[in-house]
Amino acid sequence: MNQILRSEGAKGVFINNRWQPSRSGRTIPMIAPADGQAFAAIAAGNEEDIDLAVAAARAALETGAWGRLTATERGRLLLRLSRLVDDHAEELAQLEARDTGKPMKQARADVVAVSRYFEYYGGAADKVHGDTIPFLEGFLVNTLYEPLGVTAHIIPWNYPGQMFGRTVAPALAMGNATVIKPAEEACLVPLRLAELAAEAGFPEGAINVVPGLGEEAGAALANHRGIDFISFTGSPEVGTLVQIAAAKNHIGCTLELGGKSPQIVFGDADLAAAVQSVAAAVVQNAGQTCSAGSRVLVERRIWDRFMADLKRRFEQIHAGTPEMDLDLGPVISAGQRSRIGAMLERAEASGARILAQGQIATNSPAEGFYVRPTLYHEVDPVSELAQKEVFGPILAAMPFDSEEEAIRLANGTDYGLVAGVWSGDGSRAIRVARKVRAGQLFVNGYGAGGGIELPFGGMKKSGHGREKGFEALYEFGALKTLIVKHG
Ligand code: NAD
Repeated sequence: MNQILRSEGAKGVFINNRWQPSRSGRTIPMIAPADGQAFAAIAAGNEEDIDLAVAAARAALETGAWGRLTATERGRLLLRLSRLVDDHAEELAQLEARDTGKPMKQARADVVAVSRYFEYYGGAADKVHGDTIPFLEGFLVNTLYEPLGVTAHIIPWNYPGQMFGRTVAPALAMGNATVIKPAEEACLVPLRLAELAAEAGFPEGAINVVPGLGEEAGAALANHRGIDFISFTGSPEVGTLVQIAAAKNHIGCTLELGGKSPQIVFGDADLAAAVQSVAAAVVQNAGQTCSAGSRVLVERRIWDRFMADLKRRFEQIHAGTPEMDLDLGPVISAGQRSRIGAMLERAEASGARILAQGQIATNSPAEGFYVRPTLYHEVDPVSELAQKEVFGPILAAMPFDSEEEAIRLANGTDYGLVAGVWSGDGSRAIRVARKVRAGQLFVNGYGAGGGIELPFGGMKKSGHGREKGFEALYEFGALKTLIVKHG
């Protein structure tokens, strides 16, 4: 593996199915989170590269082969890419693991999800259709979907491959031409996927990828006057900038900005299952998951027993390199590790107490960006630890006395992405789930293993718009109403 990856130099920017040198002439080193070593480089794309990518996408739609394909033909290309992803699954998983530090089993699962995105939206491409609407006598009214045009996709580093599939596949299925700005911390899989798409037969300009810094390539793309829509996943701060840019250009955007997702555990739940799931939901991907279950709310009558079981579970969790394939890997960068450390210092100063910690495998490289999974109790519900996204393997536990208090605590942050309810009383579980303000609610479980078919997105500060499922297709389609007077 190392040999393939060490030879990885900056290939440039991927426009019109070709690698081209970035007009900036600069590169960005790629640091492996597992050992802190630079192992590759990417181009630092700039405003000029973004101009060329947007122009290529526009030409693909207006004069190129892409704009002339039928929905069925587009679907076939997506299916072909899905199969190529399967054929290159191990290569992609190794690249993703090296780039992000995640355990190999998770990187492999991520690649399965990437393939599923292209399979699902490949199958869906020719199944999106409008309606016939009854209207006045002598009229025929139809709605129809057309592509929005050039769609911009700014994606994060936590699941580079999955995020590419999640946002790009539905946009292509609807016939848009895409410009993608992946994250500078980890983007080798999106770059490889663009190459595979060319091999699958996507015409020039349908998929253009410009790696680079957020404030340079990202800002140039978000503010570009030639784009018709922005799909963004990342921090609320950058999400605000993206939404301002979209507003200035009078275009739409979807924003997925993370969460502080609660799991509510009632005393009548299957506690053994809940303990396993609550721990897994916050250590997956080292807690760097927008839908991480980073708060657990526990009914006071089972607090002591549940927390004792959760403590035992946390103490068994191990972090290590991708090849060790343990529960979690390192976090993405030294900067993220320091940010998390500073947050935890403030949490402890405000009264939060550590109940349990997992381990970092002793043979993990000292230069890697490892963070010990930590379970905090006595967390003040209004403190920073209970309110803000840590984006690390850190769980904040709080007790509650009544159903009403559980709902109030669950809804008591600015976020509203995902929530879980654990109870043996089905009526209560559904009643509570319906009162929690979040885009996705789980009952007696948490996490959908990719959940490509399941609409996903936030309320409140978690963002707006829906990804996954058919909903994502509608986000990327322009609905037209055709009114014909036939007398
Ligand atoms: P970020 O929002 O800075 O980066 C996300 C993407 O936006 C990257 O591609 C980045 O290059 C780009 N970007 C950055 N500045 C930009 C700008 N001015 N204009 C346009 N694009 C820009 O996120 P981050 O700094 O990498 O992470 C910070 C925090 O964000 C994390 O700790 C976490 O809380 C949150 N986050 C959430 C998700 C999620 O899945 N919701 C993903 C990554 C990070």
